[in-house]
Amino acid sequence: MSSAVLPTYNRAPLSFVKGAGSWLTTDDGRRFLDLGAGIAVNALGHAHPALVAALGEQAGRLWHVSNLYTIPEQERLARMLADKTFADRVFFTNSGTEAAELAIKMARKYHHDKGRPRAQIIAFEGAFHGRSTGAIAAAGSEKMTRGFGPLMPGFTQLKWGDHEALRAAITEDTCAVIIEPVQGEGGIRVLPDQCLKGLRDLCDSHGALLILDEVQCGMGRTGRLFAHEWAGVTPDIMMVAKGIGGGFPLGAVLATENAASGMVAGTHGSTYGGNPLACAVGAKVMEIIADDAFLAEVNRKAALFRQGLESLVAAHPAVFDAVRGEGLILGLHCVVPSGDVVKAGYDANLLTVPAADNVIRLLPALNIPDDDIAEALRRLDTAAGAVERHA
Ligand SMILES: *Cc1c(COP(=O)(O)O)cnc(C)c1O
Repeated sequence: MSSAVLPTYNRAPLSFVKGAGSWLTTDDGRRFLDLGAGIAVNALGHAHPALVAALGEQAGRLWHVSNLYTIPEQERLARMLADKTFADRVFFTNSGTEAAELAIKMARKYHHDKGRPRAQIIAFEGAFHGRSTGAIAAAGSEKMTRGFGPLMPGFTQLKWGDHEALRAAITEDTCAVIIEPVQGEGGIRVLPDQCLKGLRDLCDSHGALLILDEVQCGMGRTGRLFAHEWAGVTPDIMMVAKGIGGGFPLGAVLATENAASGMVAGTHGSTYGGNPLACAVGAKVMEIIADDAFLAEVNRKAALFRQGLESLVAAHPAVFDAVRGEGLILGLHCVVPSGDVVKAGYDANLLTVPAADNVIRLLPALNIPDDDIAEALRRLDTAAGAVERHA
């Protein structure tokens, strides 16, 4: 029977019905090692007992109340995020896309309320900020925008790593610069710390706001709670989602008091954003991830995994030519079509995620056991071997 679902995805013929840790089970009983984690969403793996308990406990007490009232779980999570970051203010959303919408609105409103409206937002080629009309206009790629015009005006896309173009583009009319510290969909492209520092300085000298999209690279993924911490600079506005809910839909916009100053009562809202269920789970995720010992483990596991991946690349030069990324947001740049490698992974009961720039993404649960890392490397080796034989 044909599917009643809108066919906007090229779906693999796999249906999962159960998960535990880094493993997923299909409807016909096959077990897959999951290096995708729902695209960096299941940050603590599947069915983490503490998250299951937090959700169950909140579900038994209160599911939903309107943002017309003070929501204790939301207040608590906002306080936890503010205490661990640059932010003074937090707004909760249900997704990364909604976080992008608010980040754009907040930046424009900031300049409006300062008495000198600025609309122009600088973004980068290969970026991904979501699928709303605003977010696709920001990213600007033909693939995402074709047929959906007229697009929201006010966005410019610069080449990734083109410092000259950036210096030329940023002016006193620049509202904000929006960038992922590690491009996820774009192919695990890491923004060097020096560049992020330089970008911070450029924004400051032109009065533009710096918006960091940490939807994919945040929440412990790089081995720090947020990726920008490695560079020692802070944004004015930050988008968070994916890992923050550990699998429950949750996103957030974090901002300094100054950047958030235009967002007064009545300027924005959300029916579901920051609801008790999402925030109860989010608080538990934060409790576990925003912990120095946990993050030290992420770094240790990342070093272990990366070392194995370097050997894998060396052993299969006809399939891979480079490891990319930082922490547990990793990519393998492929010499063959990356889709072939993802597919060979499925045949080896291994899930990886394709990205642009002919890369396969490896985004395991942050608490993946060392044994599963070793097993993942064996299965990647099997998949690479199969690709070589078919080449
Ligand atoms: C996934 C993603 C988004 C969009 O998040 P959704 O929850 O899918 O709306 C935005 N930015 C980045 C960097 C992402 O990886």
